[in-house]
Amino acid sequence: MIDKRWLTEGPFSREFLKLLQDFTGAKYAVLANNGTLALYLALKALDIKSGDEVIVPDFTFNASGSSVAFAGGRPVFVDVDRNNLNIDATKIEEAITEKTKAIMPVHVYGQSADMDPIVEIARKHNIRVIEDAAQGYGVFYKGWHTGTIGDVGTISFFADKTITTGEGAVVLTNNEEIYKNLRAIRNQGRESSGTFIHPELGMNFRMTDLQCAVGVAQIKKFKEIEVIKLKNYYLYKKLLAGMNELEFVEETTYSNYMPFRTAVKVMNLKGLCNYLKENGIQTRGFFYPLHRQPCFSYLGYSKEAFPVSNMLNDTGLCLPVHCFLTEEDIKYVCKIIKKFYGSSG
Ligand SMILES: *Cc1c(COP(=O)(O)O)cnc(C)c1O
Repeated sequence: MIDKRWLTEGPFSREFLKLLQDFTGAKYAVLANNGTLALYLALKALDIKSGDEVIVPDFTFNASGSSVAFAGGRPVFVDVDRNNLNIDATKIEEAITEKTKAIMPVHVYGQSADMDPIVEIARKHNIRVIEDAAQGYGVFYKGWHTGTIGDVGTISFFADKTITTGEGAVVLTNNEEIYKNLRAIRNQGRESSGTFIHPELGMNFRMTDLQCAVGVAQIKKFKEIEVIKLKNYYLYKKLLAGMNELEFVEETTYSNYMPFRTAVKVMNLKGLCNYLKENGIQTRGFFYPLHRQPCFSYLGYSKEAFPVSNMLNDTGLCLPVHCFLTEEDIKYVCKIIKKFYGSSG
């Protein structure tokens, strides 16, 4: 790779992009430095600017909202579905105003949001759909890869995502106009490199060929990754089946399941987390609701409007599901969980 003397985007970037397009079925794709900037780039390609509102689920990673704010827009939060954790499509329309320019469904923890009603609402109101599929590699909605269903979509290759290049991302679209915008904005506001004339304002959103070489190898390993993660996930489900204190995320009929985390809702979250920690098991909570983020306090939301995302924050626990777990590890985690609830009644 280094022998080839190509460090910025080059042969491996082209191969990585081609493999991503083949896998996702997207007509057009461009790379970006990371998932957060991929969202920003996509928002800019949709011409989101000051005063525009973008609807974002309240239960997601902060970048879904902050990218909108950085683009100059105003994120408008909508509560999520308590069973599958994705945006509650029945609550979208009441959040639409004359300033709404786009809806950003986010596909969290391994399943697609229910896209048909979202796309229908967007069409009806003549607004765009931008999918945050940062966690969505390998996740398909009714056979369509996440990130290719709306007008534009992004997938992250951050270190903890399903496939990774350390940092990195891709922006997908089937729309030629949006593709042209994406290309210009990511390349200093010009169509191709090699000229010093810049018709528009742009930025540098390139990855390096070193990262893309890793990406090519990761795509080839994906099937293996999927098999291991599914095996881990279903072992948890089997071993923890029938417990009243713990509930798995509902598996929907419209999406496959590509476990990004083993996400469960539990009773006595704090107690369980401490007990797991004492026994050497690292866990994570769920997302912190965006309407409560200090950085979004200027939006003036109150807690009452988001009963589900608050409940999820109070009860949500992510158990490890990564590829280096052994069957013994998972059995041990489940044993400790059962012991905790057994002893606390
Ligand atoms: C990880 C993540 C991002 C940001 O991606 P980075 O590559 O870490 O910048 C955005 N949205 C969601 C839902 C994510 O999980």
